[in-house]
Amino acid sequence: MPCGWGIHEPTLKKACELAQLDGDFVIESFEKVKFGNVIAKADLCCFDKPAFIKACLEGFVLNQFKFPGGNFDTIIDATAGRNVIGFCDSTEQLTIYTRQVRLKREEIPVERMEIEPLQGGGVGYVWRFPLGREVHYGLGIVERRIDRLPDWFLPANKQIICSCKGMIRASSPKYSEPVWGHAYPSTIIAVGESAGMISSVTGGGCKEAIDGVEILIKNWGDWDKYEKELVKEFKWADREYEIVKKLYQGKKLSIGDYRTIQKNSKRVGFRLGIKETVSLVKHILTGGNG
Ligand SMILES: Cc1cc2nc3c(=O)[nH]c(=O)nc-3n(C[C@H](O)[C@H](O)[C@H](O)COP(=O)(O)OP(=O)(O)OC[C@H]3O[C@@H](n4cnc5c(N)ncnc54)[C@H](O)[C@@H]3O)c2cc1C
Repeated sequence: MPCGWGIHEPTLKKACELAQLDGDFVIESFEKVKFGNVIAKADLCCFDKPAFIKACLEGFVLNQFKFPGGNFDTIIDATAGRNVIGFCDSTEQLTIYTRQVRLKREEIPVERMEIEPLQGGGVGYVWRFPLGREVHYGLGIVERRIDRLPDWFLPANKQIICSCKGMIRASSPKYSEPVWGHAYPSTIIAVGESAGMISSVTGGGCKEAIDGVEILIKNWGDWDKYEKELVKEFKWADREYEIVKKLYQGKKLSIGDYRTIQKNSKRVGFRLGIKETVSLVKHILTGGNG
């Protein structure tokens, strides 16, 4: 599935230890990240996500069934789009539409992970994530479909290795209930984006899915407790959802909103001052219109 392959490095390390995987899957580590003109400290890396997933599946036998069908005790909806568990109770939903290309690094010289404002309006940002000799270069916009790559995004002479388009369900667990239920006739449990394990501000869901799955495993079998704990532990994500909704609706953020973003950014090791946070939101997320 489309992804920039950026992740909080300590979370990746923890996941590898817990799942007893060999290797760390890190392609490149970044102690600093560039947001427009601001360089912020961070604990991020780009990782080989396909290799990580392959290693997680090692030793399991994969059977394919046409669904619905089969006879299962438990079904995990890890489809990102609630394709098995179905709609949520809440009508509050936010989607980030994305496009991404992979280029040779010499085509788009970049020293570290970079986040830049969108051109042409909208709430979202552009990312450049180095992957050794290649770079993931993408853009995401809240609630606006991207039919084709905008001209400002990529000059025509660049050689594209691959490209993809995708969607991110940017609704936190509170706005993704129920995250479990009965159907088909089995118990269905949602995880990952289907369960709202996502940061609406960054659109990141890799660390969030790993953190959320830990909550699932701790509460395995007690599905009500899983839902309750998930909503509780992801309270920070509700605030992000509400902030992005405000930005999308063109509303001004309060100082409390900025403080929330500043506080939440510590989750991935950012050390941002309040001034840097305000400038980041104004100049990056809303392209100067915040
Ligand atoms: C362009 C883009 C860039 C991103 N970059 C980053 C990033 O750098 N860092 C980060 O943390 N997050 C990033 N994200 C978000 C992150 O990729 C997702 O939040 C995360 O992968 C969600 O994990 P998931 O397991 O819930 O779903 P996914 O990783 O999306 O996997 C869903 C799987 O379900 C399968 N599926 C779907 N429907 C069905 C069905 N009906 N039956 C069977 N299978 C089905 C799909 O084929 C897929 O294999 C990015 C997202 C996009 C779109």
